Amino acid sequence: MSKTKRIPMRTCIGCRKVQPKKEMIRIVKTPEGNVEIDLMGKRSGRGAYICPDEGCFETIKKERCLIKALGANIPNETLTSIEKSLREIRERTLPTC
Ligand SMILES: [Zn+2]
Repeated sequence: MSKTKRIPMRTCIGCRKVQPKKEMIRIVKTPEGNVEIDLMGKRSGRGAYICPDEGCFETIKKERCLIKALGANIPNETLTSIEKSLREIRERTLPTC
């Protein structure tokens, strides 16, 4: 008997595409009310998922999806640090030849 594990899927709040959770970035609102990037995906709090894609982040910034998804005000410095982390993640996952 083969055990097939269902892959957990999440919807990107930017492009609305449904993708495997492990390929997405979780942004969490902590119980203290801070909004942070959650690289391990294990922190408690209300989370939103985006793909590590520049376009999605731009959408999120422009349309304030993150504020809607998390019900929190996101300071600009938080957005900047999320953007920086996303860029680092993208650079890390780029194929090297
Ligand atoms: Zn997306």
